[in-house]
Amino acid sequence: MMKKLAIAVVALMFLAPTLGLVTVGLVMNPAAIACLSSSSLTLGNVPDSLVVTTANGETFTLNKQQLTHAATIITVGSSIEGVTRDGVQIAIMAALTESTLRQLANTGTYPESGDYPNDGNGSDHDSLGLFQMRPQSGWGSVADLMDPEYQVAAFFGGSSGPNYPSPRGLLDIPGWQSMGKGEAAQAVEVSAYPDRYNNYEPVAEKILATLTSGASTSSATASPAVPPAPSPGAVTKTSRVVFPLPEGTWVHTGDFGPRVDPLTGENAFHTGTDLAAADGTQILAAADGVVTVAEFSGGWGGLTVIEHHIDSTTVATAYAHMWETGIHVTVGDRVIAGQHIGDVGSSGRSTGPHLHFEVRPGGTYAEAIDAAKWLNDHDAADLPEATAGAGCSAMTGGTS
Ligand SMILES: [Zn+2]
Repeated sequence: MMKKLAIAVVALMFLAPTLGLVTVGLVMNPAAIACLSSSSLTLGNVPDSLVVTTANGETFTLNKQQLTHAATIITVGSSIEGVTRDGVQIAIMAALTESTLRQLANTGTYPESGDYPNDGNGSDHDSLGLFQMRPQSGWGSVADLMDPEYQVAAFFGGSSGPNYPSPRGLLDIPGWQSMGKGEAAQAVEVSAYPDRYNNYEPVAEKILATLTSGASTSSATASPAVPPAPSPGAVTKTSRVVFPLPEGTWVHTGDFGPRVDPLTGENAFHTGTDLAAADGTQILAAADGVVTVAEFSGGWGGLTVIEHHIDSTTVATAYAHMWETGIHVTVGDRVIAGQHIGDVGSSGRSTGPHLHFEVRPGGTYAEAIDAAKWLNDHDAADLPEATAGAGCSAMTGGTS
């Protein structure tokens, strides 16, 4: 997303070199910024938590996953022509009101919605996701709506939106720029209560100010000294294990254990489970944890390792072969199960796009076990397990 945003900015500068100068002049005048064709927002780091207060005076804490969804709204909104900063704020207000910025499944109506990465279960009609969009109202399929980026694009709508011309997104509402923000959100959501949205206007403003203040926000990105208090809408840390790729995107192509190295033709020991998937497929954190390795080098190409505490023991999961641009976390980041942490690539010793997934009981540098069996044992997969005999370790083996 950042790449897309950067390209958009570069394209804007290329097409209209003088606009850069104009923008500098406008920075001092917030009212004039609304006249620009797009919001030109730059996303900074996403903090681990943020304490916010609604217009009604209710204070609560947003967690990293909720703020990550807000970041998605900012980056997708910024890439759509005609979406201003106000437009992005309206979308954040809508998602706060509808889901408290959670990507909600709805297994009562759509059992399959629980198969996608989600932040919990909602039960309003057949509503799904951040904006509680309903398949029966034509917003999209269950698969579409369980993708946060799709929901954001659908909320903004416009001629390049996925539902154009109906159901209407924000850009399809005539005169939305001059409406009250709650009224504009209400017009997209077709809800009877615009005041509900207005209650979150100061919350959305604080999120926007915090996430877009760029390099100067480094203090806001520091981990809080005290863990955030439990709050309404917060996702508690769990031992939940999820499959590291979205359902239906992958094919199991390689087992843990001794095998003939596909690159050298020699006998080697394969320390992970290989899952072939299209280049760019989202890689998901298998469980809540902290990133201990995020690097691009050597035989693994892109390598990310996350340490988890599951059932009171430490275990690490490793994800390999991302392209350099497909690594979306840095060391020290806290992630939650199902969080989008990278994209499938084919860097390092790899013969084609796939995720090499490892499980290391004990921690980051411990010996790997059969990841397929571990996923099966934690109800996250139903994979064939490696046959007996795979017990030795040889890190010098193939890394594919
Ligand atoms: Zn592999």
